[in-house]
Amino acid sequence: MKWSWKLIRLAGIDVYVHATFFILILWIGLSYWLLEGTLSAVFNGIVFILALFACVVLHEFGHALTARRYGIRTLHITLLPIGGLAAMERMPDDPKQEIAVALAGPAVNLVIAFVLWLWLSLSNMLVPVDQLSLTGGPFAERLMLINLVLAVFNLVPAFPMDGGRVLRAVLAMRMNHNRATQTAAKVGQGFALWLGLMGLLYNPFLIFIDLFVWIGAAAEAGMEQVKSTISGMSVGRAMLTDFEVLSPHDPLTLAIELTLASSQKDFPVLDEDEVVGVLTQADLLKGLQEQGEQARVSDCMQGGVNSADIDESLEKVLQRLQTCQCRLLSVTEAGRLVGIVNMDNIMELISIQTALHEDHKQAKWQA
Ligand code: ZN
Repeated sequence: MKWSWKLIRLAGIDVYVHATFFILILWIGLSYWLLEGTLSAVFNGIVFILALFACVVLHEFGHALTARRYGIRTLHITLLPIGGLAAMERMPDDPKQEIAVALAGPAVNLVIAFVLWLWLSLSNMLVPVDQLSLTGGPFAERLMLINLVLAVFNLVPAFPMDGGRVLRAVLAMRMNHNRATQTAAKVGQGFALWLGLMGLLYNPFLIFIDLFVWIGAAAEAGMEQVKSTISGMSVGRAMLTDFEVLSPHDPLTLAIELTLASSQKDFPVLDEDEVVGVLTQADLLKGLQEQGEQARVSDCMQGGVNSADIDESLEKVLQRLQTCQCRLLSVTEAGRLVGIVNMDNIMELISIQTALHEDHKQAKWQA
């Protein structure tokens, strides 16, 4: 994510903090200053919010480590003012596993709350809840309560909260995955609407959370739509078969000619029928700037070949394109280059398929 800094690496997962997080810290400090007017109150407030976010990080690790048990990697965890975000390479397809991964987060908060409660009651420090305030009452007890709130809030059955995933997984046991997601996303947006109304009436901070819920629900529904549209298709359906190739010995002038003459932006580089690299438009422009138009393709291309077999599922290829940061995959059949595929090709196929599908639905409606 842009505007994020790496904070720490735990259990092989990088934890990042987003720039806007510091705005939250400033805001908390300022509101404590306005409330109490002492530096110790400001310090108290900031330490509390940091402890709260440490619990949020543990919550995300609950998700990440459970997912790891099912062989799913977590790319990184980012701390945002509204909470944590664990970027997993994918979600488990088995609903039971998805439920386990989703519940692991809130479970961590419940465990923290229980341990704090145990410690407070053993040391006789527990005070009645109505004596607690933002700054008053034992630190550990306030932290215990906020962990309970975190657990409950995350169990609300609305995307992108963990409860929304549980709802989707439960629905997915009864209907197909796409319909389950669309239904769970509608429940999520219904909840967001209600939360937004409450925010307008009572607390503007709710509107902030609300936006996150709304966008999260829409994004999840969109991703699922894409997945279900291309499920069962092979990469052969989306690849481009009419394309130009370059040789490593070609000068960049040839790449310029080809770029201007067609709509192709990225070229596979072939050395005696074997793919040896890719020259993207960005590589071409950089090469022209640094080495001039007489430079060889081999000096500017990206080596290392990312290729897919023609029968590989489109869903897998899409995932690879998203994680490998490469613009282009070459498609091979029995080791021979037969096509190229990039994000644009796949998106084109998806919009065509969606249009066909819509049309089909309408036709049925009229009949
Ligand atoms: Zn969670």
